[in-house]
Amino acid sequence: MSDTTKGQALSLEVEDGVAVVTFDLPGESVNKFSPAVIEEFTQVVERIEQDAAIKGAVLISAKPGIFIAGADIDQFLEFRTAADAAAASAFGHAMMQRIEKGRVPVVAAIDGACLGGGLEFSLACAYRVAADTPKTMLQLPETQLGLIPGAGGTQRLPRLIGLQAALDIILTAKNVRAKKALQVGLVDELVHPSILRAIAIQRAKELASGAVARKRDSRPHGAKELLLDDNPIGRAVVFRQAREMTLKKSKGHYPALLAAIDAVAAGFHGTEAEGFAEEARLFGQMAMTAVSRELIFLFYATTALKKDPGVAGVAPPALPVDRIAVLGSGFMGSGIAAISVMKGIPVRFKDTEADRVAKGVGAVRDILKDRFTKRQITRQQFEDQLGLVAGTTQYTGFGHVPLVIEAVFEELGVKQTVLKETEARLSPSAIFATNTSTIPISRIAAASRRPERVIGMHFFSPVHKMPLLEVIVTPQTAPEVVTTVVEFGRRIGKTVIIVNDSPGFYVNRILAPYVNEAGKLLDEGIAVDVIDKAMGAFGFPVGPINLIDEVGLDIAGKSGAIMAEAFGGRMQPSEALQKVLGAGRLGRKGNQGFYTYDERGKREGVDESVYELFPGGKKRREVPRDEIQRRLSLAMVNEAARCLEEGIVRSARDGDIGAVFGIGFPPFRGGPFRHVDAAGAGEVVAQLEALDAKHPGRFTPAAILREMARAGRTFYPQTGKPA
Ligand code: NAD
Repeated sequence: MSDTTKGQALSLEVEDGVAVVTFDLPGESVNKFSPAVIEEFTQVVERIEQDAAIKGAVLISAKPGIFIAGADIDQFLEFRTAADAAAASAFGHAMMQRIEKGRVPVVAAIDGACLGGGLEFSLACAYRVAADTPKTMLQLPETQLGLIPGAGGTQRLPRLIGLQAALDIILTAKNVRAKKALQVGLVDELVHPSILRAIAIQRAKELASGAVARKRDSRPHGAKELLLDDNPIGRAVVFRQAREMTLKKSKGHYPALLAAIDAVAAGFHGTEAEGFAEEARLFGQMAMTAVSRELIFLFYATTALKKDPGVAGVAPPALPVDRIAVLGSGFMGSGIAAISVMKGIPVRFKDTEADRVAKGVGAVRDILKDRFTKRQITRQQFEDQLGLVAGTTQYTGFGHVPLVIEAVFEELGVKQTVLKETEARLSPSAIFATNTSTIPISRIAAASRRPERVIGMHFFSPVHKMPLLEVIVTPQTAPEVVTTVVEFGRRIGKTVIIVNDSPGFYVNRILAPYVNEAGKLLDEGIAVDVIDKAMGAFGFPVGPINLIDEVGLDIAGKSGAIMAEAFGGRMQPSEALQKVLGAGRLGRKGNQGFYTYDERGKREGVDESVYELFPGGKKRREVPRDEIQRRLSLAMVNEAARCLEEGIVRSARDGDIGAVFGIGFPPFRGGPFRHVDAAGAGEVVAQLEALDAKHPGRFTPAAILREMARAGRTFYPQTGKPA
């Protein structure tokens, strides 16, 4: 017998005494929870509870590849007070509790992404059966948005899978794939997608009849129940270690991580009701933090960028890219090749010598092997992907390649020669992209017979780990070339920003005055580690001097000279860097720089002997930490503002994304433009002017900042969606 009713997002069908509820949010590609959807769920649950003929229920999604993507983040922006947000959490709790404690057992039939509130919903169900497909992944991403799971996740997850495993999932926001989910007890059963619905209905019946036990108590009962969880001393140790590790890693910048631990702990120390109340309270508190606001902004900004074709107005469709060629199978070339074959795109390597090609293929193998070792891919996938790389020292096969990415030596002459040689073999529609880090694209394109098909693709190292790709366009680049390269960049997993051709492009341009300012502090007698620690405390992943060591002093010196030539006084390199470079120190790659390295290349402490190269020697001066932070961060922020003013970046959004994803500008500060908005342009201009008075010419406020300060404007609208 079948009885069907359809609401807005949910439809209900009764099959053999089991209510099958199908979630299909109209007009959206994913299912999300909003207050309206929760209300609808509550009504459906009521209907099911009242119908004595219904013995069990199943929740399934009609969206391909998505079970439930979590809460609708738009609603988070509506919260005006912590109490508002806490009330929304409590509203969700009430619905989930009806599912958990109701008369009828509910089975979650999970196929595809099961995220945030979606996973929390599943946890409230009596049983979870998942489709064994690569798209099935479970995740609690809330802490990445500066929040904590607010629909029962901090309470039910530890009970289901044990304290340590739950803290790991909540604090790292990691993706748990189907097999792993079964292993840790996050789902009860894996099945082929074709029988997911049938098995879920079957299990609902078995739960209803008692053939499968239904667990409704609040005691730990997880598959991986840990002895520690039942033992107060053991628990105290786990909580203490989690807090210590979290503080060490987050340096206290991400309060939601500690709040999540507190919410989990509340569930262990108090009653069930107290645990849920504490989760709601802490969720409310976190929803009001500036950190959460900035992280949500970054989420919106990256989502918006994914839909941005890269050109204004009507965007021409991207050309199909079914294979690529990579010129130069060195460090960058092999990284680019690796991330392409990972996405199933065949790569043709070209280098000057056969052994260099072989080395490049070997480097791709190493990157893929690492993924295999970490079980991110199967042996078959490893072999298939490696099979997509082929190498040549000639230009054979180039006639059919739609996109060539050049990563040869950083010399204009070499790049132009390679461009001419390649062009002679390419089809007329093929695109030539260069990965130069410092040479203006138009100078390389000057050697081209069709400069409209030349573009910059600036990858960051290591290519397979760094999320950003700067696509650099010249006034001549054809729109179709831009859309093609932007789409290709996204396909290989990068967040792509469009940048106009100019020395340093965007990321290296804003990095230059920041690194230079660190050098000036060295010139003034400040210690290496004092500078690096100050910027670490500000939230950068590595300090500026450490970064110079990593990049290589020769490379930093070369690009510093280019920037000084282009932008004059404010980018004049520090004497300290020149002296250390002059002494033949290259940084990590030469095992000698500002820091010392052991024989395996692991960084040790500051190399005190470096001070002998500076006036004042080992005797270093003290400077307040906040002064270091202000000088370095504002040097970068001011340069970012200039880039927007000059149209190097198209928007504050692109500038923020470039700084966060390309350099590691602290995500909890949102990026340089968000940073200005938070402080107020007037305050930033005042600070810049004060610094400029002390260090003439280096901190002259960008005109756009002065203008904004005068008009009291911000880069972003102050209400609604930020990007
Ligand atoms: P690399 O020295 O590791 O590799 C360069 C490769 O190009 C070598 O294998 C070399 O044999 C090959 N090559 C030289 N001339 C060639 C020719 N005529 N035809 C074919 N191959 C040729 O250098 P890399 O670090 O991979 O840098 C490559 C490019 O990427 C440079 O333009 C660099 O500025 C840029 N880049 C580097 C980084 C970085 O961090 N290393 C970051 C961004 C961009």
